[in-house]
Amino acid sequence: MLVSAKEMLEKARDGHYAVGQFNINNLEWTKSILLTAEELKSPVILGVSEGAGKYMTGYKTVVGMVNGMLEELKITVPVALHLDHGSYEGALKCIEAGFSSVMFDGSHYPIDENVAKTTELVKICQQKGLSLEAEVGSIGGEEDGVIGAGEVADPQECKKIADLGVTMLAAGIGNIHGKYPENWPGLRFDALENIKALTGNMPLVLHGGTGIPEDMIKKAIDLGVAKINVNTECQLAFAAATREYIEAGKDKQGKGFDPRKLLAPGAEAIKATVKEKMELFGSVGKA
Ligand SMILES: [Zn+2]
Repeated sequence: MLVSAKEMLEKARDGHYAVGQFNINNLEWTKSILLTAEELKSPVILGVSEGAGKYMTGYKTVVGMVNGMLEELKITVPVALHLDHGSYEGALKCIEAGFSSVMFDGSHYPIDENVAKTTELVKICQQKGLSLEAEVGSIGGEEDGVIGAGEVADPQECKKIADLGVTMLAAGIGNIHGKYPENWPGLRFDALENIKALTGNMPLVLHGGTGIPEDMIKKAIDLGVAKINVNTECQLAFAAATREYIEAGKDKQGKGFDPRKLLAPGAEAIKATVKEKMELFGSVGKA
């Protein structure tokens, strides 16, 4: 059964490790992540962007697939199904469809509108026992004139949103989605410390987990990050393994064109990536 991310993240915060959110795109992705979490006895959060939800034909399909897999694969570790960077309407749709967790990303709204919409969703999620992630807008990476520095959130705005009663909070600390540019100066631990000081016990979320050096990940966890989002890295691993299979001409040998064979190396590569991240985040054996 799907669970809210609240308990697993509070345990992670108290135990000084982080739970990985791994985004899913299809059956192979979901199966690879769930099997790895079960094998490593790690809690896990399955992330679904609105685009990925649409790709999988809708949120109800996603809920059906994930619930079916939890049962058929006899998954015993805590699993949350979470909307990633949701709109207000998207969050409502996911709640209706049976997600156990949603993110409302109001970071592009003025702070008052972000507060108003987040407040509405806090009410709904608390009633239904779902976890809610909110995001605070940036005060810009442009303040120091460095392009590609990533965004940094205003600690006071973080406190405003955290105090609404959300479960976890995403706040920019110089992190970036996708691949990091060569001139990226690294995570802003000063910003993280300021945010932590004002938001207290709130589990913090680090987006853009692909390509952040390991020592920075560990330090971020020490400073209060309890959830780390990984998306691009699984995609890169899947693509590289699939390319290798095709370039080796394996799809032309025997029944190598069978999708179950063709997609197998990519699925294995996702498993390896998820394992590596769970070990790095310290969530192995915590389920
Ligand atoms: Zn994100």
